[in-house]
Amino acid sequence: MGVQEEAGAGALPALAPGWAFFLDVDGTILEYAARPDAVRPDASVFHLLSALHRAVRGALALISGRPVSGLDALFAPLRLPVAGQHGIERRDARGGVHLHAFPDEAYRRAAMRIGSFAALHAGLVFEDKGYSAALHYRLAPQLADAARGAVHNAASELGPGFEVQDGKMVVELKPSGRDKGSAIEEFMREAEFAGRIPVFIGDDLTDEFGFGVVNRLGGHSVKVGAGASAARWRVADAAAVRAWLGEWLARYAAS
Ligand SMILES: [Mg+2]
Repeated sequence: MGVQEEAGAGALPALAPGWAFFLDVDGTILEYAARPDAVRPDASVFHLLSALHRAVRGALALISGRPVSGLDALFAPLRLPVAGQHGIERRDARGGVHLHAFPDEAYRRAAMRIGSFAALHAGLVFEDKGYSAALHYRLAPQLADAARGAVHNAASELGPGFEVQDGKMVVELKPSGRDKGSAIEEFMREAEFAGRIPVFIGDDLTDEFGFGVVNRLGGHSVKVGAGASAARWRVADAAAVRAWLGEWLARYAAS
C-alpha cells in the first residue's frame, strides 16, 4: 500500500470506527499539478469523498490553503465542510460560513505588489484568494528566493496583523491568528464531529498546525511523504492516502 517507515513515525494507525476525517487537498488526496488551476480530481476521488462524508455522518472536512470557492469548484457538485485559506474562512458541518479576516486597503495594495512582481517574472504564478495571496514557483524553482523575498517585503510593510506561510513551491501572505489547527479545533466543537477521534492527513508545512492540534486531542496525525513532521504516522503519497481511506470506507461504510 506504499506505506513507508521513517524515524519518529510509524506506518498508519489500525482502522477503527468513530473517526472524524480532516483532509488537506493538494499533495494529500490529489497529486500536485504544474499550476493549482490545472488540478482536476477524477470521478473516483469525488465518489470516495462523497461516500466517506456519508459514512461518518458529516464528520469530514477539507482543510486547505485554497479558497472555499475554489474547493467547491474543484469538487462540484459536492459541497463538503471546508476550511479554506489556512483556516481564514470555514464552512461548518451545517453549511454556516465563518470568516475570520477581512481584506483591508493595505492588504489589497500588498497583494497587488506581489501580483506585479509575478507579472515581471516568467514562471511565477500569482493567486489572489481574497483574504490571502499565494506566489507559486513550481514552474520556476530557481526563483524561490526571489519569490520569498517579494512576499516577505510585502508582509513587512503590512506589520503584525499578517504573516508569511511557506509551502511546497509556494509562499503565501495571510492574516495571522488563524491556521489549519484552529480550523480543526472549531470543527471538533460541532455536534457532527464532537466525540469522534480526529484524523488529519496533510503533506506540507502549514499542516503541522493541524498535526499539533490532533496530537493534543488524542487523534491520529498522518504526514504524506518525506520530511520532518510532528505527525505520528506516515503514508507515501496521495494514491496511498486514497487507498487507505477506501479501506476504511469498505470496512465501516455500513456501520
Ligand atoms: Mg497540501
